Amino acid sequence: MATETFAQSLWSSLSRPLEGYEELTESIEADVLIVGAGFLGLSTALHLAEAGTRVALVEADEAGFGASGRNTGFVVPSLKTAFGPADVARHLGQDKGERLISLVGQSGNIVFDLIRRLGIECSAEQVGWMQPAHTASIAKVLEKRQADWRERGRSVEILSAEETGRRIGYKGYHSALLDPTGGQINPLAYARGLADACRKAGVALYFRSRVTELSKAGAKWLARTPNGSVAAERVLLTTNALIGKLQPELFASIIPVRVHQIATQQFDETIQGTFLIGRSPVADTRRHTFAVRWSPDGRLVTGGLVMPGPAPLERASRFFAKRLERFFPALAPIKAEYVWNGVIAATTDSLPRFLSLSPGLDAAIGCNGRGVALTTSLGRDIAGLYNGRLDASDFPLAHEPPRGVPVRALAEHGPSLWLPWSTFRDWQDARR
Ligand SMILES: Cc1cc2nc3c(=O)[nH]c(=O)nc-3n(C[C@H](O)[C@H](O)[C@H](O)COP(=O)(O)OP(=O)(O)OC[C@H]3O[C@@H](n4cnc5c(N)ncnc54)[C@H](O)[C@@H]3O)c2cc1C
Repeated sequence: MATETFAQSLWSSLSRPLEGYEELTESIEADVLIVGAGFLGLSTALHLAEAGTRVALVEADEAGFGASGRNTGFVVPSLKTAFGPADVARHLGQDKGERLISLVGQSGNIVFDLIRRLGIECSAEQVGWMQPAHTASIAKVLEKRQADWRERGRSVEILSAEETGRRIGYKGYHSALLDPTGGQINPLAYARGLADACRKAGVALYFRSRVTELSKAGAKWLARTPNGSVAAERVLLTTNALIGKLQPELFASIIPVRVHQIATQQFDETIQGTFLIGRSPVADTRRHTFAVRWSPDGRLVTGGLVMPGPAPLERASRFFAKRLERFFPALAPIKAEYVWNGVIAATTDSLPRFLSLSPGLDAAIGCNGRGVALTTSLGRDIAGLYNGRLDASDFPLAHEPPRGVPVRALAEHGPSLWLPWSTFRDWQDARR
């Protein structure tokens, strides 16, 4: 059993606590019930309520308790490295593929515009997202990616090796793609800000109210929590990897991947002006991605996978602090003052899903490690679909039944067990 680390994260220590939220202790009705208050549930609920739909949102713990409040806070207007604009159509078909990539391309602006419109205080910095290439061949892939985005009317930049090295404070990269619409936020403060905006927009929002049972009651769905219930015509599950036993076929359709994060000691302004100049968060193209950013209080935040086994928090602290020292030796000794973890809902093709579990019962899941911008944007479009403002043909994903992940038990440990091999291949790449 993994140690619960929500309260130990840097974001918990930096974010204003939520006040005035209650458990569901009665039987209520809504047009739409959303289960799970991560970015996806919150964004869907907010956009529905703003358009006049009667929405209830029920959360087992509190807003941002899942991956949304524990991530690195990178706002990334792009899918995983393997999926450039041209690759998505091959997986989803030309029509849905282009719609998804168009949404992904807008997703940085969607997040930052929403934060500005709602006045959410979450240390939002739209300073660009940087993806440095760790090999010459991947530098070519990034050039192709730039051309593909340009064809779709978006301007992303390619930085030279020298400029990449100057900005990051590390000289080993061949080039970098810089997307100026990306950036970084305090993710827990964003989730809490969305929750407050939901409440102001009229969402019936309940925390500490896990949905334990879903059943049909006439034309409606009835969701039971320990001390209450919600009857609704339509239910959307946005429970991500924390779904547990509520819908076994949903849980079987994703691979839960635990990711660790550390935040270092604080560094002074001179050092903050020497490394990661311009403050763009960086996530490179390695198989075991090196991702790093400045926190609002001057710490480096980084993380990734650790091998299964005892004392994962201690191992993560040591491993990621040492890794930072290898990139930034001038900053040694680096200490992990915060360490925490969270679970990603990964899919076999790294693409998100909009699932039909039963008539009137849907789930949106699987934003993988790209869920800050994509969940916010998908939530807006799911709301549009539900209230009829968006035609199903304009929605970027197929509405399909869940498919189980083959050899699930093995797949679950795959990413961590694969780690030594990925690290070895990254090391080989670096020597070429
Ligand atoms: C460590 C880490 C780092 C990451 N870094 C980034 C990053 O920098 N950039 C990026 O774009 N993405 C990142 N991601 C991915 C991103 O965080 C997720 O894709 C995104 O937050 C998923 O949001 P969600 O709303 O779908 O799910 P979640 O945020 O996981 O929310 C699901 C919610 O459902 C609730 N729930 C579950 N079951 C029930 C039930 N039965 N009843 C009521 N409530 C229930 C849970 O308590 C939870 O609050 C990272 C993820 C992790 C774990």
